Amino acid sequence: MNHELIVLKTKLSRGIKVNKSRLKALQAGVEGEAKFREFVLAQKLDHLLWIDDYWVQIEESPKRQADFILILPYEWLVIDVKNYHTSFEYREGKCYSNGWPEPMDNIIALAQNRNQLLQRIANDITQNITVRSALVFINENCHVTQDNTPCDIELIPRTKLRIFLEKFRATKPVHQWLADKTFEHLNKYHCEYGFPFCGLKPEEFSVVKKGILCGDCGSYHMEISKLFVKCLNCSKKESKRDVVHRHAIQLRYLFYDNPQMLTVKNLVALMGGEIPQRIVRMHMYNLFKVVNRGSASYYPIDLSRKSQLKLIKR
Ligand SMILES: [Zn+2]
Repeated sequence: MNHELIVLKTKLSRGIKVNKSRLKALQAGVEGEAKFREFVLAQKLDHLLWIDDYWVQIEESPKRQADFILILPYEWLVIDVKNYHTSFEYREGKCYSNGWPEPMDNIIALAQNRNQLLQRIANDITQNITVRSALVFINENCHVTQDNTPCDIELIPRTKLRIFLEKFRATKPVHQWLADKTFEHLNKYHCEYGFPFCGLKPEEFSVVKKGILCGDCGSYHMEISKLFVKCLNCSKKESKRDVVHRHAIQLRYLFYDNPQMLTVKNLVALMGGEIPQRIVRMHMYNLFKVVNRGSASYYPIDLSRKSQLKLIKR
């Protein structure tokens, strides 16, 4: 779950202007990673230990991210997935997309820097682990070329991904003790999401589009009955409790840095006043932990940016 992406999508659904190119880039990234997970499952490699979406920081180092890390007894294979639609070229140690130098930092340099951090963590466990990395270009329309300049990061076009992964199919997973030790050490340096982003300021609540929003199709055309809410566009039917739950999470994301904004009063207003306050209060009380009493009460749903270490779902 990418908090930044959820905040952007929620803002957009509520009529707030967002940076569209950032939204597109994040969506493409998330889609690319999902495609890679599918590959891992299809190749029957989910018996191995994979860490999914890892952020690392050691002391004052910049925060760096790895999309996936395959943990083997002798090696950590770090895989970054790129979902570029463009052509990608590695020439004389530099990266170009569609013939132009990579607009962000040189992704190879970033990966090398990140790998040095991971190697330090691996060395803490045993001296026998080598951190190696590969850049996977998952998009069907991405054409990858590379000159003879040495590159310690393997570049893998989608067409070669199957062969690249196949060699791990017979590999045995690491012993439990090594898996535990690896988790312990990776956890120690796992940091929160590294890109800056923010939700709305409390005074911006007035410009948020109000009403009950369909979770499936994004329509605001809803029919409210005694117990249910039905979308008049796609016919999705939801209990009021689920609607309250979903909109509470939405409000929490909209005001990401201001958890005190999630009050019953604001939630009723967000839903356009279509569900009475006493019903909203009852569901909120049953669903979430409340702090404070009376008019100062709010529901501080925890959206910690530091996620738990994740595995590819088996
Ligand atoms: Zn709908």
